Amino acid sequence: MRYIEGLRCRECKREYPISPIHVCEFCFGPLEVVYQYERIRKVLSRRKIEERPKSMWRYQELLPLDGDPTVGINVGFTPLIKSEGLARVLGVEELYLKNDGVNYPTLSFKDRVVSVALSKAKEFGFRTVACASTGNLANSVAALSAAGGLESYVFVPFDLEQGKILGTLIYGTNLIGIKGSYDEVNRLCSEIAENYGWAFVNINIRPFYAEGSKTFGFEIAEQLGWKAPRHVIVPMAGGSLITKIWKGLKELERIGLIDGVRTKIHGAQASGSNPIITAFKEGVDRIKPQRPKTIAKSLAIGNPADGYYALKTIRESEGSAEDATDAEIIEGIKLLAETEGIFTETAGGVTVAVTKKLIEQGVIPKDESILISITGNGLKTQEAIQDCVGHPLIIEASLSEFQKLFGSKEPERGLSAHTANMPIS
Ligand SMILES: *Cc1c(COP(=O)(O)O)cnc(C)c1O
Ligand SMILES: [Zn+2]
Repeated sequence: MRYIEGLRCRECKREYPISPIHVCEFCFGPLEVVYQYERIRKVLSRRKIEERPKSMWRYQELLPLDGDPTVGINVGFTPLIKSEGLARVLGVEELYLKNDGVNYPTLSFKDRVVSVALSKAKEFGFRTVACASTGNLANSVAALSAAGGLESYVFVPFDLEQGKILGTLIYGTNLIGIKGSYDEVNRLCSEIAENYGWAFVNINIRPFYAEGSKTFGFEIAEQLGWKAPRHVIVPMAGGSLITKIWKGLKELERIGLIDGVRTKIHGAQASGSNPIITAFKEGVDRIKPQRPKTIAKSLAIGNPADGYYALKTIRESEGSAEDATDAEIIEGIKLLAETEGIFTETAGGVTVAVTKKLIEQGVIPKDESILISITGNGLKTQEAIQDCVGHPLIIEASLSEFQKLFGSKEPERGLSAHTANMPIS
């Protein structure tokens, strides 16, 4: 049942037993879960995975639990869409969208990381969980802790979008709005974690939490017929998701489920919060912290915890990185909605806008397969676009009023008078 060996420091490689810790005592490097890949290789096959229920847990051997998941068993296996409309507009041959904007239950990819974190917290014996969040994590921790019977404390910058606030409060969590940026919220939470001994999903449980993001990469490969696309564009906040999509693809290669991963991983941020992009463009390793100012609040992290590793992922995979202004983000949201019928949040606007730029710059060739990561739902960030979508046409309830606006027209051929009047049985 158990395929994890322990934790290992990403820097000095010292090993630790499985426990709720996240940094190396010797060098302060981040800890990462170590798996027994040779054993996993023997037990896991494409066929075995395909026969399992359609959730992220079909890759359970590659997730860091001792037993079966107890929280979020329905999370994941979101749609992968072959694009036609957006592909045409962008002038590319093979474009896919992975849509975690309809992930269960809170409509963002964060449900993946939280179901792992809370299942693990329960294995450790925690009764109280907590998080520092830019919004989507708040929604997910509140919902999944309610479902999992855990007490929860959620810390956010006080000025988040209404949808993210309501979408947290509804679950009866303790929601604390901090007068400050996400980076200040995060600093405070590190102190609270030490003083209260709770399971902070993205602090002391972080090594386990982060593994949940790999399933986004696993699903991409499986849904493309066990093949990795040539390009994947990923939005970055703390920089964890991008590193784990790459790790997930490499793991599938390592255990023999896909061959020869040649995927280039491209990072996307908002121009008003682009510390990772800036370091990439300057060709340096050190990320200079910023004070974010952007409508993409879910990505507004000025001092990204995994920024260094995100950079490493981009460089190792020979990918690239670009940012998008607020105006470009709104354009990206509208473009995706109008061409594909998908309403994404600001983070998705960033990813679409950056993809468009990288194609226009020739960084992503038009004849190679491209996958855009859509990580959140537009209903949660309505403020960002409410002034950019026009208004409904308000009329009296009469046919002539309607005809005044649109004129009278011949009935469309698909719907004859005969079938229109047929009783519905
Ligand atoms: C949190 C989040 C991300 C980025 O996550 P990191 O792992 O912190 O880089 C991307 N998109 C959305 C919608 C998010 O909520
Ligand atoms: Zn170390």
